[in-house]
Amino acid sequence: MSEATQKVEKVIIIGSGPAGLTSAIYTARARLNPFMIEGEEAGGQLMITTEVENYPGFEHGVTGPELISIMRKQAERFGTRFLTRNVTNVDLSKRPFKVSVGKDDYFAETIIVSTGASAKYLGIPSEKTYMNRGVSACATCDGAFFRDVEVAVVGGGDTAMEEANFLTRFASKVHIIHRSDSFKASKIMLERAKKNPKISFMMHTAVEEVLGDGKSVTGLKLKDTRTNEINEIQVQGLFVAIGHQPNTKMFGGQLHTNEAGYIKTKPGTTYTNVEAVFAAGDVQDPHYRQAITAAGSGCMAAIDAERWLESQGE
Ligand code: NDP
Repeated sequence: MSEATQKVEKVIIIGSGPAGLTSAIYTARARLNPFMIEGEEAGGQLMITTEVENYPGFEHGVTGPELISIMRKQAERFGTRFLTRNVTNVDLSKRPFKVSVGKDDYFAETIIVSTGASAKYLGIPSEKTYMNRGVSACATCDGAFFRDVEVAVVGGGDTAMEEANFLTRFASKVHIIHRSDSFKASKIMLERAKKNPKISFMMHTAVEEVLGDGKSVTGLKLKDTRTNEINEIQVQGLFVAIGHQPNTKMFGGQLHTNEAGYIKTKPGTTYTNVEAVFAAGDVQDPHYRQAITAAGSGCMAAIDAERWLESQGE
């Protein structure tokens, strides 16, 4: 299609977690007819979260997938259109911006980036060898495969505590392996894990190697981070819970980020360094990373986009 005849969307939203879906609800209600490219694994991190107990409005909690499903229906109700594919490239060098999905190009006056963040891995070769054969970054997805066996969780944040607690539903024992003795996890989550009789803690410990028989995980080679002493434990699963990496590859450096790769926004707004491109949710938030803060910033992005379009006389 020539650029003269191309259809130009008012808003393209990339990413479909709570930030993207909230911006879809708001921009749809503002009659901006949003087009959401939701990705092939739509819904983001909430899709691999069991109980969400802290999202206001759900007194008795809600599962992550249920919460996403409700938000998506709400966005759809007001006319959001969805494309369940992955964005491969974005050209922000001129307006309208070009968003490519394989061979198909879409054009937009404004873009809301809500691509979230993905789980980080340890980066040791044996972790790759045994990926999905005992190594996982999602207890909710894979925990049930580990009935009555011992497993390990690596990490010292809330994710590690949550995964460990969840895994005790299936596993006979869960070892939390953490490289220091100071925890990023919140007090309540740490205490819950400490009180759980099936959980034991191995502090000042790093995973050196995932051991296996070629088919599945049989144990871990561990190193004491103070003495460098090497030890082995027998486990049949390793759950990696060491944080997340923001998903910004498709922008190829066009959006300014901090050292950890999170998109920088103008304080108190969702404005990025590119005019008419707004960022919301975990992709721009190294601090809070909660569903509710993501939803809040999705609302901000929608309002920022709406006001920007208005300022252009649209
Ligand atoms: P965090 O960044 O909070 O914690 C990551 C942990 O992994 C740290 O203990 C860190 O150790 C460790 N780590 C990082 N890299 C490595 C490595 N290469 N090898 C070994 N250990 C490593 O990430 P989380 O995913 O736990 O949490 C992210 C955010 O999500 C937080 O804000 C958290 O509160 C929130 N969250 C909330 C939940 C809830 O409320 N239900 C559930 C899950 C997450 P070190 O401390 O030494 O750097």
